[in-house]
Amino acid sequence: MNAWRTPEERDYNQRIFREELNDFVPAKIFDTHVHITPTDGFLPGAPFSCGGVPITSYTYEELAADLELAFPGRQVEALCFGYPDPKLNHGRNNACVGGSADFNRFFPLRLLDPHRDNAALVNTDIDRHGFLGFKPYPDYARPDDIPNAEIPEMLPDWAMAIAHERRLLVMLHIPRSKRLEDPLNRRQLRELCVRWPGAKIILAHIGRAYYLRGITGFLDDLRELPNLYFDLAMVQHWEVIAHLFRQVPISKVLYGSDIPIALAQGKAVEINHQYTYITPRPWSLSLCDEKKKLQFTSFLNEQLRAIQQAATAAKLSRPAITALFYDNARALVDEVAARIKPAGR
Ligand SMILES: [Zn+2]
Repeated sequence: MNAWRTPEERDYNQRIFREELNDFVPAKIFDTHVHITPTDGFLPGAPFSCGGVPITSYTYEELAADLELAFPGRQVEALCFGYPDPKLNHGRNNACVGGSADFNRFFPLRLLDPHRDNAALVNTDIDRHGFLGFKPYPDYARPDDIPNAEIPEMLPDWAMAIAHERRLLVMLHIPRSKRLEDPLNRRQLRELCVRWPGAKIILAHIGRAYYLRGITGFLDDLRELPNLYFDLAMVQHWEVIAHLFRQVPISKVLYGSDIPIALAQGKAVEINHQYTYITPRPWSLSLCDEKKKLQFTSFLNEQLRAIQQAATAAKLSRPAITALFYDNARALVDEVAARIKPAGR
């Protein structure tokens, strides 16, 4: 059993939710950032270290069960995609994410590998499975030189032409170590939005801005782009989120968790204008609390705490809070899903 389903972790997380978050988190949530894998979908690299918790699959059934634990009493819907790892079978992953989506509660995006995919294949897949858009990733674009991948390599013209013409969603995890600080990234992101106005670009993790210096001053030339949205997945720094709330219209902000990673225990922390994760279990991306000094809750609860604190600081109204947790994303998804229907459904 995954660690977050054990009575010990589950009950503690739910206690935090009850005591600190219950009055804040709205009744309906649309999570724009969830990863799904078929049974044995992590082969050949299985098990996958999910924030230090080894998992071998993450199916819609597991997601549905975990959402009940993570958001007690809430109605939760989600935009889902596979794990963007070039070592995994992305065709099988896409077929599972698309083929098993119910288009009522769970909606699929298609992993996009510019080297293995082409326009005909992608269009056929959209027609068959009803994918609402793409999930590109730097690792697909330049597998031998991931740190220097560029946005146009992740999203070649043929793919963006489809996204533009069919007015699809693109969940963009921006590349390069300096993220939004990188002027090349910002220029290419702007160009992408301007050149392909039919596509709706979702900037995952607010452009991976997990620390305040990673965002301050960098939204100036992005905030007016009508087709650019911002998801909050894994951001646990309340000042980063408050900065976003003050800089962009709330209609552009989308709640996202990054489940299943978000279900693991730990917290993202900023230290000296950088960030890392602190976790109770060893994980490649974290510093591990080997001395067992701390009691942790889930990343997901830490994200909700940060959103709550940011909403208070930015004096968001109650309607703004319900919009960013649900209405904004559901409207985006409904608009695409009304046009893109899977074959035979
Ligand atoms: Zn993710």
